[in-house]
Amino acid sequence: MWLHGQIDWFAVLIAAWLYSVGGVIGSFLNVVIYRLPLGMSLVRPASRCPACLTPIRWYDNMPVFGWLWLRGRCRECGVDISARYPAVEALVACFFVTLAASEFCFGGERDPVSAAAAGFHLPWASDLSATGIWMRYWAQVLLAVTLLAAGLMERDGSAVPFRLFRPALLFAIALPFVWREVRPFPFDYGLVQRLPSGDAIFQQPLDLLLGAGAGLTIALFAWSLVRRDQQGSRPMIITLLAIGVTLGWQLTVAIGVVWLAWLGLCRAFANSVDRRGGLLPLAILALFTLLAWRPILSAMLAISARSLE
Ligand SMILES: [Zn+2]
Repeated sequence: MWLHGQIDWFAVLIAAWLYSVGGVIGSFLNVVIYRLPLGMSLVRPASRCPACLTPIRWYDNMPVFGWLWLRGRCRECGVDISARYPAVEALVACFFVTLAASEFCFGGERDPVSAAAAGFHLPWASDLSATGIWMRYWAQVLLAVTLLAAGLMERDGSAVPFRLFRPALLFAIALPFVWREVRPFPFDYGLVQRLPSGDAIFQQPLDLLLGAGAGLTIALFAWSLVRRDQQGSRPMIITLLAIGVTLGWQLTVAIGVVWLAWLGLCRAFANSVDRRGGLLPLAILALFTLLAWRPILSAMLAISARSLE
């Protein structure tokens, strides 16, 4: 946030703006998690107290702060309001700011080698007007809130509707055809033989297919581990498909393998594996990976480069 010893107010302003947008989206997400499985409208009626049905005033409905100054109680009837609402709002708001830092402070680079070479710089190392980086940012943000909603719906015992995934899937499938840098890695990154970049016309469909294939493969392994019922396996398959087409095969495999290991541990040490309880850990793992893969990989590369010297 400091530039030549002075606070860079523009960077602070962008961060504050992203935090507010994240808080509002988190607040909307609470509505989606409650209403979408019930088939209710997401916009009408306005938020009401679940106990006394009094409409919540706009100033009491402010993300995070509303809950804090009401001390977690309804203004009218005093019923306790779950701390999960402000927690989701704060989590989404912090995610918005931290993901922007991860994207923009590493020079907007996609792959770990270039990100490590660019290094981490405050306030923002890359051009904030770079549309491609913003599109990658919004695709990941959309995926993250979708995963979080799916995980919390499943935890609540609600059916996770396909409708929830539609915006994230459409975004992830359509955007890379316009902005090639929307997926975090180039699809042939990590393959021994890199394809010549002249074959760009095949790149996006191939990237999409590899990502979807990776997601479905992870879903197949997970299904064989926990033998989900039909109601639980459909959202799981769509969740992994959404991760695959948004992030590409490399990050999907990385997230999926850790998640499968977690499922395996649950199966080994818990008496019964919850057949419909794996989506929230998957969401949290994906959120963490989105924030951490660039710092972790670039730190590892920097350390190995130093030890080679
Ligand atoms: Zn009330």
